[in-house]
Amino acid sequence: MSTEIEALGIDAGSTTTKMVGVTSSGRLAWHHLEPTDPQIEEQLRRFLEISRKEAGPAALPLVGTGYGRNLVQPADRRVTEITCHARGVFQEMGHGGTLIDIGGQDTKVILIDNRGSIVNFVMNDKCAAGTGRFLEVVANRLRIPLQGMGDVALSSREEESISSTCTVFAESEIVSLIARGHSTEHIVRGLHRSLVRRISALAKTAGLIPPVMLSGGVAQNAAVRDILSEELGQKVLLPRYPQLVGAYGAALIALGLPKTPQAEQRL
Ligand code: ADP
Repeated sequence: MSTEIEALGIDAGSTTTKMVGVTSSGRLAWHHLEPTDPQIEEQLRRFLEISRKEAGPAALPLVGTGYGRNLVQPADRRVTEITCHARGVFQEMGHGGTLIDIGGQDTKVILIDNRGSIVNFVMNDKCAAGTGRFLEVVANRLRIPLQGMGDVALSSREEESISSTCTVFAESEIVSLIARGHSTEHIVRGLHRSLVRRISALAKTAGLIPPVMLSGGVAQNAAVRDILSEELGQKVLLPRYPQLVGAYGAALIALGLPKTPQAEQRL
């Protein structure tokens, strides 16, 4: 049991639910992550029981965020994902910039100034093609484990051009390319290019402030990181736990820690 946990944050996302516990200095001391259950209220109750085993029985300050935040009944506050992601990344990285969060069913671009305030944001939540869902669907179609997709893309320098701008049509395009004998590696690299181009176009509409930072589950895909850096013509920085940034920000808000950049106090 970790008695040093002083506050909790829950990010109930459309694809995964994350819970983070922080110490009084804002250090990420504990986390728990599960795929989001359709019975989300029951799942959130279970998360709280797990956190009590870890942090002790006393009620700790709790902030809920994410798509299901209104279902986090015991939360003291519910705060948008945009605010929580900006808070979490500013605390860890110690500077502003452009945060691109690529989640399971939406992608957000958040511009953060050097005091940690949000100056602009744009979001794609209408179409799977610019989100993690796109890679999930094509990984499934190609029978490649999702975690291995990035390595397959990076194993090839050549790429197939994917013209479909919709996940469903991209799936049939893949089937037809394979039937015509095209290499899986080239197709997978082309699919990453297609996803990243959509995301970089979204980021450019927000107006990029360097440096670019990446969060969300898809940030764990090395090919997405490399191709994004190529498309934007700049380095892409990664927090230590990209998928936990929103829940971490929620826990920091619950803790009430002043917003000061503390790059030296990494997660
Ligand atoms: P949300 O907050 O919207 O629920 P997450 O930020 O948790 O979403 O990201 C979920 C997405 O991350 C999934 O669509 C999945 O495709 C992707 N993902 C998760 N783990 C990995 C991994 N190891 N490699 C590549 N993609 C991953």
